[in-house]
Amino acid sequence: MRDAVTAYVGVGANLGDPRSAVAAALDALAGLPDTQLVARSSLYRTAPVDAGGPDYVNAVAALRTGLTAPQLLDALQALEQRAGRQRPWRHAPRTLDLDLLLYGSGRIDSPALSVPHPRMHERAFVLVPLQEIAPALVPPDALAAVTSQVIARLP
Ligand code: ADP
Ligand code: MG
Repeated sequence: MRDAVTAYVGVGANLGDPRSAVAAALDALAGLPDTQLVARSSLYRTAPVDAGGPDYVNAVAALRTGLTAPQLLDALQALEQRAGRQRPWRHAPRTLDLDLLLYGSGRIDSPALSVPHPRMHERAFVLVPLQEIAPALVPPDALAAVTSQVIARLP
């Protein structure tokens, strides 16, 4: 794999069987072309942020990929579609949400893609699983700022 980049993907679901959906998504990430899954966090149960609906199951995956960031986003959206994702309104409950959190040290600011993900540092459901697999990427003060958000590691 030439010019591979380490990318981090946030996985979330709160409809249907979210635990199975997140586990299946992690397996599907491992099967993306020109991509290896190098780490996966535990699964976490979290209360919805800025939204109602059932609790979420969240996780973060580390990938080593030869895909470009737009190619990776396309692949993530294809997996969301395959899981039956619908977008009736902003922050609606979802069968599967895959967010590109980090793409190496890349900074992208296009209408379709912002990396690093602009809200990742406000979200315990990103920071806690990310810290589990890549502690150097999570500043302690960022983690301290989200302690009011309820998150529980699933056994
Ligand atoms: P959210 O995850 O914020 O609830 P969606 O999953 O519906 O919202 O995504 C809305 C749009 O966000 C997508 O169509 C995508 O083009 C855009 N987007 C921008 N940056 C990113 C990113 N880093 N990861 C995933 N989607 C992104
Ligand atoms: Mg999303």
